[in-house]
Amino acid sequence: MRWNLISVRWAGVAVLLVLLALAPAGAQHTIIHAGRLVDVATGTVTSNVDILVLGNLIEKVGPDLDVPDGAREIDLRHRTVLPGLIDSHAHICLQPEDSVRSPVLYKTHPYRTLEAMRAARLDLLAGFTTLRDLDNEGADMADIAVRDAIRAGMYPGPRLFVSGWALTITAGHMNLTGLRPAVDRKLDQLAILVDDRDAMVAAIRDQVKDGVDFIKIYATGTMRHIDRDTLEPLSQLSIEEVELMVREAARWRMDVAAHAYGGDGAYNAVAGGVRSIEHGMFLDDRTLDLMVEKGTFWSPTMTVYLPDEGADAEETEFRNRVVQRHRDTFRRAMAKNVKIAFGTDVGSLPHGEGWQELQRMADYGMAPMDILRSATLVGAELLRREDELGRIAAGYRADLIAVAGKPDQDTAALRHVSFVMVDGRVVKQDGSAVPD
Ligand SMILES: [Zn+2]
Repeated sequence: MRWNLISVRWAGVAVLLVLLALAPAGAQHTIIHAGRLVDVATGTVTSNVDILVLGNLIEKVGPDLDVPDGAREIDLRHRTVLPGLIDSHAHICLQPEDSVRSPVLYKTHPYRTLEAMRAARLDLLAGFTTLRDLDNEGADMADIAVRDAIRAGMYPGPRLFVSGWALTITAGHMNLTGLRPAVDRKLDQLAILVDDRDAMVAAIRDQVKDGVDFIKIYATGTMRHIDRDTLEPLSQLSIEEVELMVREAARWRMDVAAHAYGGDGAYNAVAGGVRSIEHGMFLDDRTLDLMVEKGTFWSPTMTVYLPDEGADAEETEFRNRVVQRHRDTFRRAMAKNVKIAFGTDVGSLPHGEGWQELQRMADYGMAPMDILRSATLVGAELLRREDELGRIAAGYRADLIAVAGKPDQDTAALRHVSFVMVDGRVVKQDGSAVPD
């Protein structure tokens, strides 16, 4: 009997030691007193809840938790606390001016890397604690470098999942146009040009070796390729070609994201097995239905297609037709329960302005709580990280934000994020960035 009691006591000590060993060295407790806490999984809001954080993990959530000795206390009693937001379509290596002056012609890779570092920080301070970065657009390995520098703790930043160089076809999207051929052939392009099956497989293996998290392909062309009468985009890949790339990526346990506006190119991407469709403003019912059947995600990125200020009348009229279709597709996709993962295309939008897309989803009829889910739970599932990201619950990563107002009722509250914690580290408090 006595021996058993001692065993039980030692077993308890052993469990405690294991828990302590799992916590990062020097991990400290932080307790957050939340005035309102949004549970995106249940769609409910609870008042006066405490969140206990140890190191970079959430340890406990509940009312009136005991404050451990030496714990840091954070008072968010006048705020709504919610999980850190996930932007499923970002470009830290892209800046708004790059759409006018192609960065592969005018900027060095080191300069773009520094820009990317700054961009990641701006997006983080806007409440986006995780970014799925969809193509560095010719910035070599800047996205990988920034991800690794943040992971190594050199700089505070968002959790990054990056795709490195994307894959496209000659004359397609991301292939420079209008240059003298002799000049063009000497230049780095914005993506890797893959025109046959061997090149597709080889490019994926190169990306894996460089350290990407997933593969990005261009399944349709860009705006200049759209037929102005029918709005049919250029289809860049067959089902068989997409299947080949999805299969090769799967060998390395990686998913494939496809830029696809609609038409046959988008259908081929979904039928070929990609994890997500990006943009998709012209997705037809045939493709949306297949997406529901196959569980394909859609990241709509609607704001960046609005007409540019100062554009000529013809261009503005064209853009307005695109925007109208995008809004219609968004509503049909919602009605069909397509998995919509919030994505901004930030980089085309100024960094730190992701709230604009949150507001657009609200304006197009998505309920505020569904917008929050799209920017947390759905994004986490798309990344296959639903067990550690996108919720405030025991065992999840300590990524959380706070705002004044009620973002579960009015999305506009997300425009001004007052508090940001990423991986247990407070980077913004009372509306101001915390010095490193
Ligand atoms: Zn993009």
